[in-house]
Amino acid sequence: MSKKINKGEIESFVQFEMRKTDQEVYYFNFISWPDQVITKKICDYCSEEIIYFDGIGSECPYCDEIQNVGPTEAADFFDTDQEDDSLAGFALNFHKIIQNDSQKKATISIQGFINVDLGKGRFVNYNDDGTGNLSDEINLKDYGIKLYSPSDTDFSNALRRIHLFSEEWVIRWKTSGIFDKNLKQIK
Ligand SMILES: [Zn+2]
Repeated sequence: MSKKINKGEIESFVQFEMRKTDQEVYYFNFISWPDQVITKKICDYCSEEIIYFDGIGSECPYCDEIQNVGPTEAADFFDTDQEDDSLAGFALNFHKIIQNDSQKKATISIQGFINVDLGKGRFVNYNDDGTGNLSDEINLKDYGIKLYSPSDTDFSNALRRIHLFSEEWVIRWKTSGIFDKNLKQIK
């Protein structure tokens, strides 16, 4: 269980929990329904919308290119060197990955927090039994997150990218949202 948090003492988080704080903290709290078939709507090669790439090594009906779909390919969505993507994807995690001959399934999460004042963050990793653990503290700069003059706009932009990611990869969230230090949801 979580330790009680003193005001502004974000370090004492031992498990993901959102609490009001005086520091510039933003919480990411997205977790999908379990057993999401990892599937994709947009072709990597010709950008046509295809319903759906849910098989491993599916062929695009428009350009015939074969592409894989899985956690690695999904994570590539945020691998653009753009800051909104660094921010949106810093906590992306897949667990309970199941693979059979034609499909991969997983639970997808983007859970963690960013402390803008400290330039640090932590994210949640899940074990296969579904237990979530907070990562060690990360330096945001190491993750391409600079936030020189941070504002809600940065987080709104990140949110928009997560929405696009969810659409393209057909993810159904059980819980979703980015929240500020007052636990107000970013729009
Ligand atoms: Zn194509």
